[in-house]
Formats: sequence, structure tokens, C-alpha cells
Amino acid sequence: MSETHTEAVRTGARDECGVFAVYARGEDVAKLCYYGLYALQHRGQESAGIAVSNGRNILVTKEMGLVNQVFDEARLAAMDGHLGIAHVRYSTTGASTWDNAQPAFKVTPSGTGVALAHNGNLVNTADLARGLGPTGDRCTTDSELLATMVAADADVTLEEALVTTCRQATGAFSLVVMDESTIYGARDVNGFRPLVVGRLPRGGYVLASETSALDIVGAHLLREVEPGEVVAIDEHGVRTKRFADPKPSTCLFEYVYIARPDHRFPETTVYGARRRMGSLLAAESPVDADLVIPVPDSGTAAAGGYAEASGIPYAEGLVKNRYVGRTFIQPSQSLRQLGIRLKLNPLPDVIEGKRLVVVDDSIVRGNTSRQLVAMLRESGASEVHLRITAPPIRNPCFYGIDMATRAELIASGLSIAEICDFVGADSLAYLSLDALVSTTLRAKGSLCRACFDGEYPVPVPQEQLASGKDVLVQLTSPR
Ligand code: SF4
Repeated sequence: MSETHTEAVRTGARDECGVFAVYARGEDVAKLCYYGLYALQHRGQESAGIAVSNGRNILVTKEMGLVNQVFDEARLAAMDGHLGIAHVRYSTTGASTWDNAQPAFKVTPSGTGVALAHNGNLVNTADLARGLGPTGDRCTTDSELLATMVAADADVTLEEALVTTCRQATGAFSLVVMDESTIYGARDVNGFRPLVVGRLPRGGYVLASETSALDIVGAHLLREVEPGEVVAIDEHGVRTKRFADPKPSTCLFEYVYIARPDHRFPETTVYGARRRMGSLLAAESPVDADLVIPVPDSGTAAAGGYAEASGIPYAEGLVKNRYVGRTFIQPSQSLRQLGIRLKLNPLPDVIEGKRLVVVDDSIVRGNTSRQLVAMLRESGASEVHLRITAPPIRNPCFYGIDMATRAELIASGLSIAEICDFVGADSLAYLSLDALVSTTLRAKGSLCRACFDGEYPVPVPQEQLASGKDVLVQLTSPR
């Protein structure tokens, strides 16, 4: 297929990737992978891929596009096997091209295959690539680099190679890996990105970025893969190995925006956390208003919480086009005025003459919020009070969420009052960091909060911090 890709409209933070894996004899593993990816589609909409093995060979199919554009019945039927891994991707390092779609596939010196799919971003990519010499120079993503490292050594088992690679890699990685006979899951010592293990009702195991992908295939949640742990799953069941002591700093933004509301962290569902965000926002930043409306979908649960706590009625004042993903083809200049209306359309019947509390998850660059406020006013809102379920994002993410460069983040340069002016709202308030942390039911120290408070739990190379780039070392650029 063509390697030219359509530019995505980039209005806010973007998810990074979703991973999934199955080991289940007697099941249609390719189809289970397909359904798993379907549940994880929100985590990546640029490419989709599945690798399966029948015990002898690994077959990889990957393409640019959504899961249901990449796979059909015929394609899945051709993928015969009892184990497999799968991936949906946004590019956070490397270009958005077929070559960089995952699973990445490598052949070891002994001739066996290795497929790997990665969610997250490493922060020591350049060092790792240097360690591989010319082979490292040819890698175009940190995920390909990991696959190359895992497959490089002829003298060790894949399990040993994976453990060694995990010890060397720094930053965010939730991995699923396979050879012809075993699937593996691995999670960095900080556990930035989620990764869970589930059991299928008729036997067999599943690994997935979110519990919603277990639910869709009927798997029962066993537990999270621990930070610093590798699990191996084969015909003997599940083995586990710790490659380092855990130092948890799970991404706080997963709760705010990235994960689906039905994802279950050990302490809470994302839905429950978002309801609490809304309630606390109402307590911290009350406003005299007629209606609470969400910016769907990530603001929906929080708007419910705000309405319940404040006693202000809740209504759906914005209709979301569910078929416009978080990326879509950039409108041509003549259609640019469509802007936010491609995704959200107001309901004047609901909004007209009303003083609105509008609950949204974040403001990244500010342009979307500005368009949103203008659109609500055009539809007759008499007042627009923006309430954001997280603190201002002042720092870029180096662990796999594609937000913006520091210079592009509106809160890195402007005060809240200035942002309010820029977006044209009557008032603007953000949830405090302590309140947000409390909604997760976890200790503050076990969460990454760097985009909000600048405390990066894993040191980021100075040149990246200085440039404030959201992407890490671009492997395709000269080192
Ligand atoms: S910097 Fe923000 S988005 Fe990135 S891992 Fe930390 S909390 Fe998540």
C-alpha cells in the first residue's frame, strides 16, 4: 500500500498504542485478536496488526487504517494458529508508515521468529541504538529497536533475551512478544501504561492494555502485569519473572482521558474516577448555572458527577459524530471552517438561553476549546463556564502520550485567566492536582503527574527536556 499518509487533525492529546495477546488452543485466535483490537481502537487509529503462530511459523498481517479496514473474514481465516499478539498504533516516535506499523517481526540468528508489539515510549532509545551498532541505526522506531534487541542473541532463550532487554530499556513500555510457541507480556518498572492478564472460560490466557479487551472476548480478569515483571504463557500455563523491583508511577492521564471508562484499575474503574473528578470539580469550582453539559466522550462521566454534586441539571448539549475517530483526514483549506463541527454538533434546543457548565477533560493547545465556546455561543448559550477535570498541562509527555511541544501547550505560557480570555469563556477552572490524584484511590507517589507538575519520574535526557518535544529521539533523524 502507499506510504503516503493523511495528516491527522491534531486538536488535543493523542493516545499511543494498544496491545493484545492470546494463547488458547482450540480457539480462533486471530479472531480473538481482532475483537481485542476492536475494544482498544481508541488507543490507536493509524495502523492495526496481528501476528499468529501455529507452533511452527509466525504470520504477521498489518496495514495502515482502522481495525475493521485492515481485517476482514478472509484475512482472519487465513491466519491459523493457537497463539497471537496484536497492536493498534499511533506514531509517537517514527513516521506513520506501513514499515512502522506493528507487530514488528525479526528473525533470530537461530532462525526462529520474534514478533513484538509495544505501548509507550522509551527515553534511552539513542543509547540502546548505539549499543546495537549499524543494526540499531536502521531501526526506525523504539519498538523496532526492542524487537531487534530481543532477537539479537543466538545463545540465549527468548525469555532470557526479553528479561535482559527489559533491564536495559528505560521509560514506558507495556510489551507483548511471541515466538512460535510462547506469548510474553512485560511492563516497565514504573508501570506507566496498563497491561492486564485474563483467563478465557474454556482455558487459555489473554494479555491486554485494558480490561475492556478482556471483556469483549469473554475473558476473566486475573490481575495486572506488575511493573518490572515478565509473564510467559505457553502450554504449561503462566510463568512469571521479575526483572527489576517495581517503582510504580502509572500515568495519571490514563484516568483522565486515555483509557476507556470501563477499564478497571485495581483500585477503581476509570468511570468511577471520572465521576469523582466531576464531583470534586463542582466542590472546588462552583458556578451559578442552568445546565451541565459534557464534551463527549471523555467528559461525560465527570459531567454527571458535577451535576450530581452541584444539583444543576445534566443534559447532552453536544452530539458527537461517533464515526469520526480521534484522527481523521485534514479538511482542505476551503472546508477548514468545519473545524470542530466534524466531531461535535450542538443542540440549540437544549442550549439556547442557558448558562452552561461545560465539562471537558483537558485543554492542550486551546484551539479546540476556543472553537467549542464560540460554537456554543452561536447556538444561543447565554454563558459558557468551562470546567476541566485535570490541572493545566504545562509540560510535555516523554512516556508515550503525544500531546504537544512545550511551546504549543497553552498553559505553559499563559495564566488561567489568560487562557480563559483566549478561549472566550465566561469562566474557566481546572481540577486541582491533589483532588485529581484522590479520584484514583492511589497514593500520589505511585502516579506519574509530570505533564501537570513537571516531576518526571524517569529522568528525560537534557536535550529532550530543553527542546520540550513531545516525541523522543526520532530514530530516522541523524544522531
Ligand atoms: S507525563 Fe502526563 S501523560 Fe505522560 S505518562 Fe506522565 S501523567 Fe501520563
